Amino acid sequence: MSEQASKTTVSDTWTKPLPPAEKMPAEADVVIIGGGIVGVSTAWMLARQGVDVVLCEKGHIAGEQSGRNWGWVRIQGRDTREIPMMLESLRIWDGLADEIGEDVGFQRGGCFFTAGSMKELQSFESWVDIAREYEIGTRLINAAELARHVPGSAVKWAGAMLTESDGRAEPHKAAPAIARAAVRSGARVLTGCAVRGIETSGGAVSAVVTEHGTIKTSTVLCAAGAWTSMFCRSLDIDVPQLRVRGTVARTAPATNVLNGNVFDERLGIRRREDGGYTVAHGSVLEHPVTPSSFRYFAKFLPALMQEFKIVQLSFGRDFVDEWRTPKTWSLDAPSPFEETRVLNPAPTPKVLQGIRKNLDTIFPQLANTPIIESWAGMIESSPDVVPIIDAIDTLPGFHVATGFSGHGFGIGPGAGKAIAAMLTGTDCGFDISALKLGRFFDGSPIRPQVTI
Ligand SMILES: Cc1cc2nc3c(=O)[nH]c(=O)nc-3n(C[C@H](O)[C@H](O)[C@H](O)COP(=O)(O)OP(=O)(O)OC[C@H]3O[C@@H](n4cnc5c(N)ncnc54)[C@H](O)[C@@H]3O)c2cc1C
Repeated sequence: MSEQASKTTVSDTWTKPLPPAEKMPAEADVVIIGGGIVGVSTAWMLARQGVDVVLCEKGHIAGEQSGRNWGWVRIQGRDTREIPMMLESLRIWDGLADEIGEDVGFQRGGCFFTAGSMKELQSFESWVDIAREYEIGTRLINAAELARHVPGSAVKWAGAMLTESDGRAEPHKAAPAIARAAVRSGARVLTGCAVRGIETSGGAVSAVVTEHGTIKTSTVLCAAGAWTSMFCRSLDIDVPQLRVRGTVARTAPATNVLNGNVFDERLGIRRREDGGYTVAHGSVLEHPVTPSSFRYFAKFLPALMQEFKIVQLSFGRDFVDEWRTPKTWSLDAPSPFEETRVLNPAPTPKVLQGIRKNLDTIFPQLANTPIIESWAGMIESSPDVVPIIDAIDTLPGFHVATGFSGHGFGIGPGAGKAIAAMLTGTDCGFDISALKLGRFFDGSPIRPQVTI
């Protein structure tokens, strides 16, 4: 591990001062709203095909979810609707560093969902069957094999579901590196540039209005993460979306106690490129109750019932903040997106204490390893916990890619490929038609297959 790597903080990515506004492009083929992994991957894919693309990010690239996540790049346990896109994503991750000429910290190393009992282990069998259909190679392993992969654990698990081909990457590196690759391929990436709204002509998109000026375009992608629902609502487009806060921490570099990504209901842990560990509580997510919680209650009820053991409700400022945010705003004055440049929720002290306790219990060799940084991220979820990727019929030229529901980092590059194809009217080689927005409004049952 290099001296420099140990000094890199996660929050460096999203707390630096914003750069001065760049000269605004007058027009573009495509404008992307949002510089998370989804926006930058799409920009990169488009630019490589020679499409004239501009990406506008209100804060920093990867300033929100894409720079704050656990860094797991996994196919294991996914909803079947995501599997083809995730297979493609893993293929892209494999060659990404070579293709863009920058390290993103990607390595395969396996993903372990541990089981505390034989009954729990058997409950994984249905996903192993799914994996078999896609030739993914997921299998159940017994306690002895698990102990060989996770030698530092003091817990006697019954076994685990393992996908050896799953991996991990460094969130603070990946999206910024892909954004730079997009720029090298011809994309224009503007940070500190909030998009306030859309102009239309004859009912179709004709321009985006940013805080620094207007960009003429006929094609817009809203990849605005936790802000998508609010942005779309201002255009009379209903995108059901709620937020949950996840608290995360990282340790100092320490002895190697495991390979890959390990999930226990008390702890999610993976080894970092710098020799430390990214750690989080395995079963605590906090939902700040807001007016949207009531607006979308019925659509989210199946997900809430499924996740009721891990989602804790919190009541505080978020309710008032959302309540006070108007549904529409003038495009000539600062918008809500400029008010909150980077959604930077505070980590919850009680959750951090739980992480420390569970880390020490499960991995006693790490008991004296300090936690050197902690943060939180606001995960945005769709009602069935899989993304929404769609062209919006009521506003020709406007597209949405959101709702990646706690697992959009790993699938980001594959999503970028699929979205670029949607925007250019080409075939990405796999089907994403099950991810249309209309599934929440056409009366079909909302049935989450997986958890956040
Ligand atoms: C704590 C946590 C743990 C997670 N763990 C994992 C994991 O291990 N593996 C995994 O695969 N996924 C994980 N995820 C989920 C993953 O991080 C997200 O699904 C993914 O990053 C979403 O990417 P995105 O580009 O859609 O959104 P974001 O990364 O949120 O990017 C959206 C961007 O849009 C910008 N924006 C919004 N509105 C505007 C506007 N009007 N104008 C300009 N810019 C705007 C925002 O500033 C933001 O930067 C986790 C998430 C969190 C928070």
